[in-house]
Amino acid sequence: MHFNKTKIIATLGPATSSTEMLLKLIAAGVNVFRINFSHSSHENAEELITKIRDINKEHGFNIAILADLQGPKLRVGVVEEGAVLEKGDVLSFSNVDEIGTSKKVFMTYSRFAADVTVGERILIDDGKLLLEVTESNGTDLVKAQVIHGGPLKSKKGVNLPNTKISLPCLTEKDLADLEVALKHEVEWIGLSFVRSVKDVRQLKQIIASRKAPCKVISKIEKPEAVVEIQQIIEETDAIMVARGDLGVEVPMQSVPLIQKMIVNKCHEMGRPVVIATQMMESMIDSMTPTRAEVSDVANSVLDGADAVMLSGETSVGKFPVDVIEAMSKIIQHVEASGQVATKKENPPTIRGKRFITDSICYNASKIADQVGASAILTMTFSGYTGFKISSHRPKTNIVVLTANRSILNMLSLIWGVRGFYYDNMESTDNTFKEIKQIAVNNGLASSGDLIVKVASMPIEESGTTNMLKISQID
Ligand code: PEP
Repeated sequence: MHFNKTKIIATLGPATSSTEMLLKLIAAGVNVFRINFSHSSHENAEELITKIRDINKEHGFNIAILADLQGPKLRVGVVEEGAVLEKGDVLSFSNVDEIGTSKKVFMTYSRFAADVTVGERILIDDGKLLLEVTESNGTDLVKAQVIHGGPLKSKKGVNLPNTKISLPCLTEKDLADLEVALKHEVEWIGLSFVRSVKDVRQLKQIIASRKAPCKVISKIEKPEAVVEIQQIIEETDAIMVARGDLGVEVPMQSVPLIQKMIVNKCHEMGRPVVIATQMMESMIDSMTPTRAEVSDVANSVLDGADAVMLSGETSVGKFPVDVIEAMSKIIQHVEASGQVATKKENPPTIRGKRFITDSICYNASKIADQVGASAILTMTFSGYTGFKISSHRPKTNIVVLTANRSILNMLSLIWGVRGFYYDNMESTDNTFKEIKQIAVNNGLASSGDLIVKVASMPIEESGTTNMLKISQID
């Protein structure tokens, strides 16, 4: 099976929740499944987690789970099928949780009527619908006139670009959803609507206090986060350019340059970066993507994203397997061109506590490219060397071996990394012999090839990564 370096994240939903479908998506190229807590009940999330973990166990896969917390996202409630807003119509937003129509809809934000003022704009469904507030009773009812109409669908997001919202980053719902993610030790947790580095710290503190191994993806979708981007990248484990809400919260024409700025900063700072939303949107209903969508995916790969993400295309789309196949083909073609952005030289200079490991990872990447090695083999205990080697974007295969299954899954999101379970740290010579064999058995290196190995020595003590060895396969 061909292995792409740029990873694919697929959001799960009604179109993709059976074990059979999950297996098809994995075969088509998915590396990470995203459970979106905006749409998933706890029961549904736990069922999906169990299915994915069972598949990993049964088939020896390392598929990661990304549990995406809704954050202070405002949404409309459930709406009856077929509701359409026409230009000039008046839609009422109420605090009563009942089935919505084209006349009245439930709004999840209980302080909406108190915070909003007449004349402010309301955008629904990533800005597809635009309304203007005409009336508010200050407590529980807001009326707005439709400026751009269209289908009004259940639980779609609402953006209020002119209104200051007083909700915290982790809402009560998020804290309850987080319990599910922590209980099952999902590999990645998505933090939505990050407004400040403090939001990231708060989530990381909760995870640390629970001694959970989960890593944080900070979703950049608010202008405030763009302003604090340097500190946020520093604090987080990974970044997602969440273009759906971002393109509603800031002028849409700003999104491409913000995306490129964030990818470049993530590269500079060695953090994984995910490009998300509307990548293959037309494939929700169509068998083939538009040429513009093909270019969008290709450009994200060329820019050096770690992963590209699908939302509605796989959660509710008609062609979930075809969309993964199409995305995978685009990635494969672009990667084969050899034109994926190489990193600016970024050797470690500060003698911090990871200086030795950082220096080995940097030099392993350089040496592997310079000698044309077919793989870099690294043993990892925390995943750090996997992250670090990937961040230097070597041309060769990055083969990561670990005895920790959670780390193995987590690394599935990281550019270029291929993980294998390995727990026989008996002696350096034996370990090296065995891991070399794993690379050969998986078609990642063959007779006569050079490979670069990095490890800690003595190997059984699993301390700092302090050793680099080049060898030739017999
Ligand atoms: C986005 O807004 O682009 C995004 C990924 O967030 P969500 O799908 O949670 O709305």
